[in-house]
Amino acid sequence: MCSSAQTRPRNSAILKQGLEVRLKNLPGRITIATAVSLPAAGWITGLTELPSAYLPFAERATEFLAIFSIILAWRFRRSRIFLAAMTLALANQLIRGPLTVEISTGFGPGLAALAILLPLNLGLIGLFRDRSVVKVSTLICLAAIFIQPALVSWVLSLGLSENRFGRWFDLAQTPQASLLAFLIATVFTLVALTLRRGVFEIGMLGVLTCCALAMHGDRGLLSATLLLAAAQLVLLLGLVEDSHKLAFLDELTELPARRAFNEALRSLTGTYAIAMVDIDHFKRFNDRYGHQAGDQALRMVADSLRATGGRTKAYRYGGEEFALIFSGQSVASARPHLEDLRRAIADRKFSIRSPERPQKKPDRPKKSKKTPPQAKLTVSIGVAGPTADRSESGEVLRAADRSLYRAKRSGRNRLVGS
Ligand code: GH3
Ligand code: MG
Ligand code: MG
Repeated sequence: MCSSAQTRPRNSAILKQGLEVRLKNLPGRITIATAVSLPAAGWITGLTELPSAYLPFAERATEFLAIFSIILAWRFRRSRIFLAAMTLALANQLIRGPLTVEISTGFGPGLAALAILLPLNLGLIGLFRDRSVVKVSTLICLAAIFIQPALVSWVLSLGLSENRFGRWFDLAQTPQASLLAFLIATVFTLVALTLRRGVFEIGMLGVLTCCALAMHGDRGLLSATLLLAAAQLVLLLGLVEDSHKLAFLDELTELPARRAFNEALRSLTGTYAIAMVDIDHFKRFNDRYGHQAGDQALRMVADSLRATGGRTKAYRYGGEEFALIFSGQSVASARPHLEDLRRAIADRKFSIRSPERPQKKPDRPKKSKKTPPQAKLTVSIGVAGPTADRSESGEVLRAADRSLYRAKRSGRNRLVGS
């Protein structure tokens, strides 16, 4: 057994690698949610003429996409997508209705108000929490968004621009005022992205870019409406990506889930090894420290699995069971990595957070002399690879399971291979 002094660097290495893996997921999400749409947005900005047959469809594109987004947001309980899609749809209605002349000339008080309020609304929506679409709070937000055009037109009808407020009206109509609003919205989105690392926040950066191009592109109505359609598309792609995450990623550990494992299993050919990892006496651990501490331990075990050497991929198979696939590697070459993994988990100390620990950090935390209790966990591992009499990956998985059973029966905290 390693001493705790030896354990500490190992633990920080695991945490670092876990973080790296999580950050590595971000570019993939960025690619799907925004990078697909941004070149399209760039192309749209340069678009001045379309074959006339496409014109009615192009003008209606935002509405079509908004309807899709709204239905999906309602089904998936994504109030932020719902509110953002409604905001974009409203902006599109305004530029195709009362603001048509202003968007064609690129100037006017109504357009200036839209160019400021659109990003600010989107930025604020990004800070909310997702909830059901049919909730009073969501409907109040929707009403607050939809009342803004009426308020703006009422303020403009008061003729305040001619009196002492005139200077502020002039300032609000400069492109810099709108750009400042876009900057504020981007900062809000980046703050939300840092806190939540969500697909929505990444998509929102693309949405804001499309909206900024629509408001400042000076290319006329068709280009602006198509850019708002591109913004809707980014929202939709974000939702698709989010549902993919729901289906294939385990929420607790952020490891790929059973469905992803089953898919990977089907495509396995040639040389490979499958390892099944099961936490020992985990029921006892839960009974002793509570379910929340159990969840915390599962996340830490997942971090260790992610850090396993040998180009392996870890999955949460279900409950306290995990699976590792070593593609292109034999059982013999997977063994040392699995032995390292088993030892690293056995050597690791799990600090158990007290169930009475407040959710929010208090301003003046009470000084406690007690150090949090530390627990230990071990895992049993069964590993198997294809042989002449078991070439199917399903059979290999069953062999790995049998090895795991043998590891349990022979005393746990060990690796058994076949
Ligand atoms: P063995 O060494 O034989 O594997 O014993 P075990 O106690 O680990 O196995 P058993 O199948 O009896 O119990 C598994 C436990 O894992 C029971 C269940 O409460 C716990 N568990 C499964 N999924 C979760 C989870 O998501 N969170 C928490 N906290 N516990 C879980
Ligand atoms: Mg177990
Ligand atoms: Mg089990």
